[in-house]
Amino acid sequence: MTQHTTQPRIVILGGGYAGVSAAVRLGGTSANVVLVNKHSYHHLTTLLHQPAVGRRGYTDLSVGLREVLPSCVDLVRGRVMAITPEQKSVTVKTRQGEKQLTYDYLVLALGWEAEFYQIPGLREHALTLEDLNTSRLTKDRIEEALIAFDENPEQGWRRSIVIGGGGLSGVELAGELADSRQKFATAFDLKPEDISIHLVDGAPGLLHGLDPWLSQETTAYLTARGVQVHSGTRISQVKDRAVVFENGNTLEAGTVIWTGGVRANRLVERAGFAGNRQGRAEVDAFLRSKAYPEVFIIGDCALVNDAQGNPLPPTAQLAVQQGVWTARNLRRVIKGKALQPYKAVTRGIVLSIGRRYALGVVNGYRISGVPAGMLKDAIAYKYLFSIGGPLLTLKKWWSWAAYASAMRRS
Ligand SMILES: Cc1cc2nc3c(=O)[nH]c(=O)nc-3n(C[C@H](O)[C@H](O)[C@H](O)COP(=O)(O)OP(=O)(O)OC[C@H]3O[C@@H](n4cnc5c(N)ncnc54)[C@H](O)[C@@H]3O)c2cc1C
Repeated sequence: MTQHTTQPRIVILGGGYAGVSAAVRLGGTSANVVLVNKHSYHHLTTLLHQPAVGRRGYTDLSVGLREVLPSCVDLVRGRVMAITPEQKSVTVKTRQGEKQLTYDYLVLALGWEAEFYQIPGLREHALTLEDLNTSRLTKDRIEEALIAFDENPEQGWRRSIVIGGGGLSGVELAGELADSRQKFATAFDLKPEDISIHLVDGAPGLLHGLDPWLSQETTAYLTARGVQVHSGTRISQVKDRAVVFENGNTLEAGTVIWTGGVRANRLVERAGFAGNRQGRAEVDAFLRSKAYPEVFIIGDCALVNDAQGNPLPPTAQLAVQQGVWTARNLRRVIKGKALQPYKAVTRGIVLSIGRRYALGVVNGYRISGVPAGMLKDAIAYKYLFSIGGPLLTLKKWWSWAAYASAMRRS
């Protein structure tokens, strides 16, 4: 590795967990750093199920990028349209028109998008939880359906909410919905039992691939709170007012929310970096593209294996780690030092099932109830602290507490 004599240009694509974690750690280097993101804010994806039922405000989940980026990092607000690694260039559509950004090093952190598996009607009729806007649309759709049911009680399908996908986001959303059922019922002059919540998953149990204890506890908790869990049930079609299963059964649905499939941002594949079936790109030990070593690919776009060679699941936890690691390696590159290989550290998982219950497996220990809930909150605050220091953490703590207290009073 030779030291750069001119200012290297680093372009980071994506202001999510991975991209922001890298960008905030590149201040004070001799590099010229640019972050490109669709929005002027970073949104906390892991909490998107909460504004979808009104537990938090939308703005509570956004962090202004300028608020956390070092002053020497330029922000380009725009949509990445194409990446051309042969020419080391990126095409970005901004409000001022199309721009070509060239780079010496690229950090590709464009995250994930929903995968619809070509299930007929799914893309057309189902909502997804991808960003603040889709979270808002979900709440709007649920409310519209319930208002319409109140006015037209013969239109029974409107009171039924179906979540397709019993992974992390599906069960967290089901838990929030179960907790909000009373609030929705009061708001639209219905009985709580008028609103039915279904969680459908093709795997034999919820949270497939995680500790079976999590699956059992989650299923028991959701069932006790009135969520109808349909495990081992694959959706074969989604219609205007119903979901059709592979076994031929049909379930009426006024609102369908799809959390059952994610894949890497399609731009990864289009740029020629594709790796596995979910479009996640294969990377070397330093998280770089094997064909283009000046391109670092991190977060949900990257296919990273554990020590046994099994692909690690796409999580915010790993996206943050990879962002931090890549910033460290880029600092080494700038100084002409050798890169250090990335080692994933997976500490476990904590999930909240509604506002009253959380559970998880951390460092091999199973936790549930109040300690798990506190840990879940601590993880969110620790992350905010890591990108925005005490000021951002206090600001969010204050606004989250104020929103929760306003909700309790309403
Ligand atoms: C409801 C829900 C709950 C979850 N819960 C957990 C959890 O409890 N724990 C956990 O570890 N993980 C959880 N996850 C998964 C976690 O959110 C993802 O793994 C994580 O967001 C990946 O981070 P990332 O930086 O790779 O991508 P993202 O956070 O998705 O960031 C990608 C960024 O790129 C931007 N972008 C995308 N396309 C373009 C474009 N064309 N041009 C410009 N910008 C673009 C996006 O706006 C976004 O800012 C959850 C996910 C969901 C949906």
